[in-house]
Amino acid sequence: MTSDLTKLVELQAVDAELTRLNMLLAAIPKTLERIESQLAAAKKRVEDARAAIKASEATKRAHEQDIQSLNDKIAKFRSQSSSVKNNEQYKALLSEIAQAEAEIGTHEEKILEVMENAEALQGKLSEAEAALTAESAEIERQKKEVEAASAGDRKAAADAVAKAKKLRAAVEETLLATYDRIAKSRGRALAEVLEHRCTACQVMLRPQLLSNVRAGLEVVHCDTCSRIMYYIPEHNIQKVDTSASSIAHQAEREWMFVPTLGTQGAFAVFINHKGAAKMKAYDAQTGEAIAQRTEKNAVFQTIFAEELRDARNLFVDEPSLEEKFKDKLPVEVLLDMRHQLPKA
Ligand SMILES: [Zn+2]
Repeated sequence: MTSDLTKLVELQAVDAELTRLNMLLAAIPKTLERIESQLAAAKKRVEDARAAIKASEATKRAHEQDIQSLNDKIAKFRSQSSSVKNNEQYKALLSEIAQAEAEIGTHEEKILEVMENAEALQGKLSEAEAALTAESAEIERQKKEVEAASAGDRKAAADAVAKAKKLRAAVEETLLATYDRIAKSRGRALAEVLEHRCTACQVMLRPQLLSNVRAGLEVVHCDTCSRIMYYIPEHNIQKVDTSASSIAHQAEREWMFVPTLGTQGAFAVFINHKGAAKMKAYDAQTGEAIAQRTEKNAVFQTIFAEELRDARNLFVDEPSLEEKFKDKLPVEVLLDMRHQLPKA
């Protein structure tokens, strides 16, 4: 890898960390708001309990005033009784007094109800006040926690900004502009290549592209997602070791998608073995074997150059797939291979 590309790989990691930190920092006001809203709810419960007590006291006072005015009325009736002129008037007066006394009785019952209820309301208020005290302490604790975490994040973000600035200053200007342009539209500008595949869009690389990326002498873009690709040999060693018994053997066989064969392309294996080049192709739609050619004293890279020109590498785990399925590839293999192709 060029030193510029190495720096860009590091820059991408720093940029990703910065994005993560900025998202955390941007979420802080909302988090504090949510914490505060819990406190507001607890405060409201106390206020509601106080308001209910006030309302019940007002009701009690209204009943007491009504009783007072009824008593005044009764006193007035009694004072009139000495001046009544006949039995009819006297009876009417007594009836008025009896009615006022009955009304007083009703008000007194209502007052009793209010007083009984007052105890429950007082209990609710004490509960709400205790909850508010507990909630306030908890909220203070949570706020301190958020503030401490955000101070740490702010410091880390400042460090990341400084590191990014330093890296950017060390990368060639045009390449940096390309990095910024792709990062802006794609989120990430760089993609690692693993198992012949762009890890960002999962599409297999053309052989020429793969060898350019491996060589690491120039900036290579993915055909499909146009990200800048990079290759770290250590990340690919294990796969090569486990996918075939020997690296040399592996190099002598390649599965490819060949768009020029079959009705809509073919999956074909190209093999160099004992001085002969072999190609076997299966229709990409049906999986049927459609072509097989063996050329003596040849290597597939040159003898089948025409088929290979627009071909794409496929990743195939099975070492001798074409011997296992001589006439037709099974559906699951077809699906896996089709999945490795870029979406039309
Ligand atoms: Zn890609």
